[in-house]
Amino acid sequence: MQAFQNLGINDNILEGLSALGFTKPTQVQEEVIPLMLEKPCDLVSLAQTGTGKTAAFGIPIIQLVNPQLKQTQALVLCPTRELCMQVAKDLESYGKYIKKLKVLSVYGGARIDQQMNSLRKGVQIVVATPGRLKDLLQRKAANLSKIQFVVFDEADEMLQMGFQDDLTSILENTPKNKNTLLFSATMPREIATISRKYMNNPVELTIGTKNAGAENVRHELYLVQTHNRYPALKRIVDNSPDIYSIVFCRTRRETGEVANKLIQDGYNADSLHGDLSQAQRDMVMRKFRNRHLQILVATDVAARGLDVNDLTHIINYNLPDDIASYTHRSGRTGRAGQAGISIAIIAPKERYRIKAIERKIQKKFKQCSIPSGTEICKKQMFNLMDEVTQVTVDHKQIEPLYAEIAEKLQHLDREELIKHFVSLQFNKFLEYYKNAPDLNVSATEQKRNDRNKKDPRQSLRPNQKLTTFRLDVGRRQGIMPQGIIRKINEIENVGRIKIGQIEILRNSARLEADSRYNAQILQAFRESEINGKTVSIEITQPIAPAGNSYKGRRKPSNHRKSRRPRKE
Ligand code: AMP
Repeated sequence: MQAFQNLGINDNILEGLSALGFTKPTQVQEEVIPLMLEKPCDLVSLAQTGTGKTAAFGIPIIQLVNPQLKQTQALVLCPTRELCMQVAKDLESYGKYIKKLKVLSVYGGARIDQQMNSLRKGVQIVVATPGRLKDLLQRKAANLSKIQFVVFDEADEMLQMGFQDDLTSILENTPKNKNTLLFSATMPREIATISRKYMNNPVELTIGTKNAGAENVRHELYLVQTHNRYPALKRIVDNSPDIYSIVFCRTRRETGEVANKLIQDGYNADSLHGDLSQAQRDMVMRKFRNRHLQILVATDVAARGLDVNDLTHIINYNLPDDIASYTHRSGRTGRAGQAGISIAIIAPKERYRIKAIERKIQKKFKQCSIPSGTEICKKQMFNLMDEVTQVTVDHKQIEPLYAEIAEKLQHLDREELIKHFVSLQFNKFLEYYKNAPDLNVSATEQKRNDRNKKDPRQSLRPNQKLTTFRLDVGRRQGIMPQGIIRKINEIENVGRIKIGQIEILRNSARLEADSRYNAQILQAFRESEINGKTVSIEITQPIAPAGNSYKGRRKPSNHRKSRRPRKE
């Protein structure tokens, strides 16, 4: 491991790093900083958040821009307002000792006139969300003609959020001879396309394994029946007294429901979802960052940009629709060298999805048992004992009261005193978990579930009627046939629902499915979120029997196959 001093960084920046307490560069910094300082080039780097990538691109940029010129020389594009603010703050602290260096963050949801004023005064580095920057360009308030560096930070997130067109039009305003640096936690095909289209022989760097979960994250799965998801979550939380965690849900509604139940049950929890105003959002995030909240229940989209480093657990209350989101979720724990646990609470019929994730992250999940009531009580008690032993005793304050206290408790001997003290803390816990059932899916239930999969009632009938539904999300919002099929497969208390053709268009999709389940299908898609967009669904005209409506994707007859676990 090299020291920062050996990477070619100038003294002013070294002073900034030392003020931050950075002593050793991380792997991505060790690779990117000298490379860029020696001879700036285009770069594609596969790096998770938490690897130190901000300093990896930030330090060379700060060193290479000219603070004497009041021109924008570097542009960092980020998917969210929160990340934007965070990156700008980080860059400012690395360049704290460089005179005249100005970093400005511009993002939606804030006053544009103030941002325009700041731009007019002249800044060397602009950190922006694509939508707001495009707006500023249209108003001729931003000038990118002297840009030397463009950074795409969390490029996969930006694409998922549908910023592709904005990015293209922003790049058209930048000079040809700039250097482009792209950082992404996952490498979907679209990223390769961008790098081919906009970059010049980029150097490719992989920090860790391609598409792999962070090194120090342990992946655990808990198998429960769907109706036991919430009690299972409670037990997992109760069994980790020091938990500091994000619980991921798939819809806003579920997020609100889980958070409300946790709050009612006395946990330090709150929710983060798209229905909150920016001020409410900021407040919840602040409370979570300050650890006034132990548990944050969130959707993927709402949790974007929330930069918290020392999460102990990520809990997938429901698995995300796409594997990339699982990687993003789990990458939020196990940061800065600490160990982290990514937990998936799954129903038996979701086991095949775990296999797909395992293949992608190249790591195995450990199947764990939901702890019993007795185990949890024991864990909590020992935790309390630890706290009792470690607590700082203020002898001076207690001394004057001690005689009185001792007198009041004198009828209790040591053993009795301990029992009373434990009961005071634990009666509620012991009561709650008295006779608590086993929540784990038994072997018999697993077998039954496997048998149900082969239930002959669910096989196709030749005269089965299909209804056509229209969704207002399409290719642009990142919807895939697999996601639609999965959603239908997850509908509870019905047999297998026959699915016909699925047609994915630019901004909409149509699907055919068994007419007997119209209500359930409408219900399942309503309220759901796909890549940040709330879906609306309606019954529509049948898809024309063109046979090729699949637009080059797999043939419809394959859908049924693709939604079946190959092996159980
Ligand atoms: P990033 O991946 O850029 O979001 O960084 C993750 C976290 O690691 C941030 O809180 C940084 O401040 C911190 N960090 C980055 N580089 C270093 C370093 N060399 N030493 C210690 N902490 C670092």
